[in-house]
Amino acid sequence: MNRRDFIVRSAAGLAVAAAGPIALSCGAKAQKSETTMKPELKISFQEGIPPGETLSEKFDYMERHGVTGFEPWGGGLADRVPEIKSALEGRNIEVSAICAGFDGFILAEEPQVKAAFDRTMREIIAAAGQLGSTGVIMVPAFNGQTPCKPHTQATRDNLVEELAKLGDFAVENGTTVILEPLMRGEAFYLRQVADAASICRDAANIGVKCMGDFWHMTWEETSDYGAFFSAGEHLQHVHIASRANRIMPGEDGPSDNYTDGFRALQELGYDKWVSFECGTRGEREETVTAALELIRRQWEEA
Ligand code: MG
Repeated sequence: MNRRDFIVRSAAGLAVAAAGPIALSCGAKAQKSETTMKPELKISFQEGIPPGETLSEKFDYMERHGVTGFEPWGGGLADRVPEIKSALEGRNIEVSAICAGFDGFILAEEPQVKAAFDRTMREIIAAAGQLGSTGVIMVPAFNGQTPCKPHTQATRDNLVEELAKLGDFAVENGTTVILEPLMRGEAFYLRQVADAASICRDAANIGVKCMGDFWHMTWEETSDYGAFFSAGEHLQHVHIASRANRIMPGEDGPSDNYTDGFRALQELGYDKWVSFECGTRGEREETVTAALELIRRQWEEA
C-alpha cells in the first residue's frame, strides 16, 4: 500500500467509523466517500488568459467555466485596487496571487536598486493584502539583473534574513511573499522547488512561502511529485502551462501530463490555486476551454 492509498483508506475508514453501523454495512457509501475526499482543484487565470477585452468580460468567462482565482500583475497594483475590487464584487472569484511587478531585486549589489525593490515590493504587498491575495510572487534575481550578489552561503544567509523581514511586513498586511524558482536560462540563482522550500524553512516565517511552475519544473525537476511533495506546508501557489512551448495545457500534446504533480498536491491537501501562466497558438476560446477540460480530467485521474 502506498502513502496515498494509506491516507485515502485511513480517512475513508474514519468516515465510515464516524457514520456508524449503517455505513459499515454499505460498501457503496464507503466507495463514494473515497471519491469525494479528493481535494478541489481550484483554477486561477492570469489576466491575459481568458477571452474578453474588459475585466468584467474576462470574469464573466471565468465564472461560466468555474475558474475561481484571478492573478493580476503587480505593477501599478495599488492604483488598481478599487477597479479590481469593484469588478470582483458579487462574483465567485477571488484574487489568487499577485505576479511580481516590483522594481529592482532583492539580491541587488547596488543599494539604490535594492531600495527600489524594498519600496515597490512593499507597495505591492500592501495592495495584495487589500485584495485578499494569498501572496506576492517574487524571483530573487533574474540572470539579466546585475550586479547581483554572488551565489554563496553569505548571500543565501542574507536572502533568508531579508525575506524574514519581508515576511513580517506581509503578515502585517494579511498576505505572504512567494518565492518562484525558474529554469536556469532565466534565473540560475533559484531553480528548484525544494530549494525554495528550504529557504522558506530557514526564514522560519509564516509570511515566506514558495511555489512551483510546471513549465519551469519541466526543465529543472527530476520528479513533479517529489518537487511539490518536498515543499509541503511552504507551498502557496502553482503555475501551469504546456510543457514544451509554454502555451495552453494540451496544445503540446501527450507531453502535457500533470498527474504526477497533481497526485502530490492531492496528498498534501493543497487548497490554494493552480494558475494559468501561458500563451496560446490557437483560438483562445477553444484552447482555454480544452485546457480546462484536460487538467480537470488529469486531476481526477491523479
Ligand atoms: Mg511562473
